[in-house]
Amino acid sequence: MDKPSSDCSYTIRKLDLSGTFLSPPPEDVSLSPCVIEYELPPDRLDLDALKIIRRLQRHGHPAFLVGGCVRDILLEQPPKDFDVVTSAQPKDIRKLFRNSRLIGRRFRLIHMYFKQGKIIEVATFRRSATQDDELEDRHAETNLYGGPADDVIRRDFTINALMYDPERREIHDYVDGFRHLSRRLLCTIGRPERRLQEDPVRIIRAVRFGVRHNLQFDPPLLAAMQQLSTQVLECNRDRMTEEIFKILRCSAAAPCLQMFTELGILPLLFPGLQLKAEAGESPFKHIERLDRSIRNNGFFNDSIILAVFVFSFCRDFLYEAGDIVQDLNEVLAAVNANLRFPRWQLHHIRQMLMSQRNLLRGPYTRRAQRILSRDYAADAITLMGLVAGDNDARKMHEAWSRLISGQASGPRRKRKPRSKRNQ
Ligand code: ATP
Ligand code: MG
Repeated sequence: MDKPSSDCSYTIRKLDLSGTFLSPPPEDVSLSPCVIEYELPPDRLDLDALKIIRRLQRHGHPAFLVGGCVRDILLEQPPKDFDVVTSAQPKDIRKLFRNSRLIGRRFRLIHMYFKQGKIIEVATFRRSATQDDELEDRHAETNLYGGPADDVIRRDFTINALMYDPERREIHDYVDGFRHLSRRLLCTIGRPERRLQEDPVRIIRAVRFGVRHNLQFDPPLLAAMQQLSTQVLECNRDRMTEEIFKILRCSAAAPCLQMFTELGILPLLFPGLQLKAEAGESPFKHIERLDRSIRNNGFFNDSIILAVFVFSFCRDFLYEAGDIVQDLNEVLAAVNANLRFPRWQLHHIRQMLMSQRNLLRGPYTRRAQRILSRDYAADAITLMGLVAGDNDARKMHEAWSRLISGQASGPRRKRKPRSKRNQ
């Protein structure tokens, strides 16, 4: 991203805030509202997201791209998905788009469905509750609608609060996110202690954004992360599990886990587990390999990704002769102690890990080949490729891979009819 100070290819207009907020912003949020005339490269934008925004705007609803997609494009990285935010309420959006569905009981938003399973999330600007709001229940606050300024200051980090209007080609920035992004600085919106206490999942998110995008942590944010790290245990288990998956998928999982270790989060989240490493070797060696493979466009499903992580805790006994089920179950129980992985997934991972020592013997007997009929075979062989250490293991993995992709069979020899055998 070009630095605002050295590049004059865009102009900045100050935004007038009078009457902008429906809920008064917390005192610790420092506001610097402005519009930056800056065109994001059109070929990096999603055409369906642009169509949604155009139609919403044509019907009189301000609408923007928001969050991760704007941040990633400015950082010259491919965005994972495109989120839209608008003043239109879910019922208005439903009327405008036939391919839309209202989802979420707690946090109501719209999913728009497109070809090849693509989903674009469209949310209505939200605001925080004021003393005058009479809320029916504690979830009602999540569905109070506001304006763009109300919405962005509820977000976690300044760099995640940028809104882009592709029609006018402008970025709306209320909290200095654009400048922080160009200086590669990660800051919370408002005082870090308050924001991390309000939702400790943000500690995990800070690690991911900071490490993945090579950002500098704002010193007060880093201090708050260190001070409040034990609060990660108070998070909702499902949200925490999703954030851990995002870390494992983000192609910088090893340095993120390293930072977790420094913050003391790893032993908190996974009690009693020790990362196993041989002398002089990184305890995240296999996760580094996973990161490299993801960076080289490798795609791995969540079970494989989680299995590589679990492998780092059990590689010392996984290849031993004898009963390893109990040891493996203990590791899986500790991995699941503060998170919530589906039972089928833990079972699948157990099978993949248990089959590693058999896979290592190679596919040269009929008995070994029976593994191919199991539903976990393909994932177990992929896992083997990610964790296989020495040359022998690599060769075995190649043999299994050839077999599973059908290459090993080569041109089939015709079997003689039974009557002509032994002739
Ligand atoms: P990614 O590229 O990983 O998807 P993202 O920034 O899009 O990163 P999401 O988890 O998809 O992250 O969330 C979308 C947006 O919602 C964020 O950019 C942020 O503005 C807001 N957000 C998400 N989680 C929180 C949270 N816990 N607190 C405040 N705002 C959040
Ligand atoms: Mg996202």
